[in-house]
Amino acid sequence: MKQAHVMIAGAGPVGLVSALVLAEAGVRVTVAESSPGLNQDFRASTFHPPTLDMLAPYGLTPDLIAQGLIARYTQQRDRHEGVVAEFDMQLLAGDTDHPFRLQCEQWKMTKLIQSKLEKMPHVTIHFNAKVESVEQTGDKAITRLAIDGQPHQVESDYVLGADGAWSAVRRSQGIEFEGFTYPERFLVISTAFEYADHLPKLSYVNYCSDPKEWCVLLRVPTLWRVLFPTKPEETDEDVMGDVLVEQRLQALLPQDKPYETVHRSLYKVHQRVAKTFRQGRVFLVGDAGHINNPLGGMGMNGGVHDAMNLCKKLLAVIQEGQSQDILDRYERQRRTIAIEYINASTARNKKEIEERDPVLRKKTQDELRATCADPVTAKAYLRKTSMLDALERAESIA
Ligand SMILES: Cc1cc2nc3c(=O)[nH]c(=O)nc-3n(C[C@H](O)[C@H](O)[C@H](O)COP(=O)(O)OP(=O)(O)OC[C@H]3O[C@@H](n4cnc5c(N)ncnc54)[C@H](O)[C@@H]3O)c2cc1C
Repeated sequence: MKQAHVMIAGAGPVGLVSALVLAEAGVRVTVAESSPGLNQDFRASTFHPPTLDMLAPYGLTPDLIAQGLIARYTQQRDRHEGVVAEFDMQLLAGDTDHPFRLQCEQWKMTKLIQSKLEKMPHVTIHFNAKVESVEQTGDKAITRLAIDGQPHQVESDYVLGADGAWSAVRRSQGIEFEGFTYPERFLVISTAFEYADHLPKLSYVNYCSDPKEWCVLLRVPTLWRVLFPTKPEETDEDVMGDVLVEQRLQALLPQDKPYETVHRSLYKVHQRVAKTFRQGRVFLVGDAGHINNPLGGMGMNGGVHDAMNLCKKLLAVIQEGQSQDILDRYERQRRTIAIEYINASTARNKKEIEERDPVLRKKTQDELRATCADPVTAKAYLRKTSMLDALERAESIA
């Protein structure tokens, strides 16, 4: 029998998790990544409990925990008044093996997966390999790509578009990416400055609402990351420049000496979902299928959940001879979650953190305090924010 072959565009977290799940089961996998190596950008830093549960059978979770920080508590704060509600993720014990958020950079996971894939003879990873288009015939897919600038083509049974927000796979299939882009961009500043010594009762994950300029303070093992919205009229150059960066950091916490920053990145922020996640033998996973603002840390986590869902179905088709029809369930389950849950929750998180109306701000804060005070409602809140409910909802979709 011919060995099945899956082509994956993109060696980000979602492409590599997909590659690992398929390759561990013996499927031949080719990955094409347009960059010269794995990206080390400063994006995802939060792994939610069910993602850690899913990654555990692949031997990733203990290594990620060893390289990250266990965040037992998450806080909703008022930027000026401090803690509004602190949620204890231990309430989720019993629903997950990992009742905490793991603060760990996404590139640590891709590096770990790369080292596993490199030992597998049936896996090929091409760097400097830019996927340009995918064509489909009755029983195969042909991916056209440029490797080191030279044209190549790869024939496979299936193609996974894990090539991020600007997915060439999605575009080559003519799939619309419905939604919108926010006018403001998000600025992420990393600094070794120890905020916990100055802002009382800080946890590792802090969402700080404010009518003028909200922010998020996230701890990763060696740094604090501070995320600010920017004003649409500010130029990229100004936003990333020393003057505005210093102004923003001083306004958050005045210090007599200037802040030292380690990294600065500026991101466009979107809420978009692809019109379909499946076109014949081609599937969209992760940011190629859905993008959202980072408030709540659901992009990479949701993408890993896509990868697990789809790859298990592909294995059932490839190795157990199940009908290809089950692959449509991937789209029904995961596209529904992208719209109803990931997109809706992150959009709501942004609306609440930036709310200007004092009455609505007070209402949200009162609700958060009341939710947090009762273990039953606090647990329900944590099941939502940690994406456990989304996975249960996906399973309920036939
Ligand atoms: C500031 C910020 C903070 C965030 N924090 C979190 C968080 O804490 N938790 C969370 O869950 N999510 C978070 N996210 C979102 C998260 O980073 C993304 O959802 C995640 O990176 C998506 O993974 P992916 O593999 O689908 O896409 P990507 O990470 O974008 O990877 C796609 C890969 O494909 C490659 N590629 C692109 N085009 C091609 C092509 N034509 N051919 C071949 N290769 C190609 C790219 O080089 C890249 O390596 C955050 C995002 C931002 C901006």
